[in-house]
Amino acid sequence: MAKLELQNVKKSYGKLDVIPGISLDIKSGEFVVLVGPSGSGKSTLLRMIAGLEETTGGKIIVDDEDITGQDPALRDLAMVFQTYALYPHMTVEQNMGFALKMRGMDPEEIAHRVADSVEMLGLKGLEKRKPGQLSGGQRQRVAMGRCVVRNPKLFLFDEPLSNLDAKLRAQTRLEVRRLHDRLKATSIFVTHDQVEAMTMADRIALLKDGHLQQIGTPQELYLTPHNVFVATFLGTPE
Ligand code: ADP
Ligand code: MG
Repeated sequence: MAKLELQNVKKSYGKLDVIPGISLDIKSGEFVVLVGPSGSGKSTLLRMIAGLEETTGGKIIVDDEDITGQDPALRDLAMVFQTYALYPHMTVEQNMGFALKMRGMDPEEIAHRVADSVEMLGLKGLEKRKPGQLSGGQRQRVAMGRCVVRNPKLFLFDEPLSNLDAKLRAQTRLEVRRLHDRLKATSIFVTHDQVEAMTMADRIALLKDGHLQQIGTPQELYLTPHNVFVATFLGTPE
């Protein structure tokens, strides 16, 4: 678990001000869903937290340590993307263990972590399969398993369920939330899907044009929206 503070974090591309300045406190163990229309800056914000994109201002603080500008490889976090990018020639367990192997971890410890992760993600029996022999949902689970084995304190999810069909998405939603609870992680989950936000979040942060509109529990946003955008985005109460 980790707590995360964003202090006036900014991003611009030349003259294009994508994120004029966001401040946000995420508590240790929280599951925060970052939601907003396409182009509102959700991915950019996650990528800055992961260190895949430089900030143009502000600070990112994890457990009281300023990680702004820190090498992404040194950040104790894992990011799950919409596309899975698995190694096609490796089996499920090889895909999951690869990053640990590269770090020189003891093979027994790797096997132990991979077995735990396989179990947690419901992939038992599929360990020897290659990505081409798996369904889209199973591939996304392998991608999540690859993050789980690293046991990071912070999870960043960038629309990981968008490529799944509606039924599978509903099911995987619950599984992601259960995984977060079981790992006692802190998570930011990006989506443009209101239902995902309402059903998964401890708190929802709603973004529009790089501006944070409101952050609060699903109930708070639903019952006391701060503006018309929040009300219409999440659906107004009867
Ligand atoms: P979201 O994930 O909410 O759909 P993004 O963070 O991907 O939004 O994008 C936010 C805005 O930043 C968009 O207007 C997008 O065109 C712009 N943007 C993202 N990456 C770049 C880049 N490398 N260069 C210029 N503009 C970019
Ligand atoms: Mg995006």
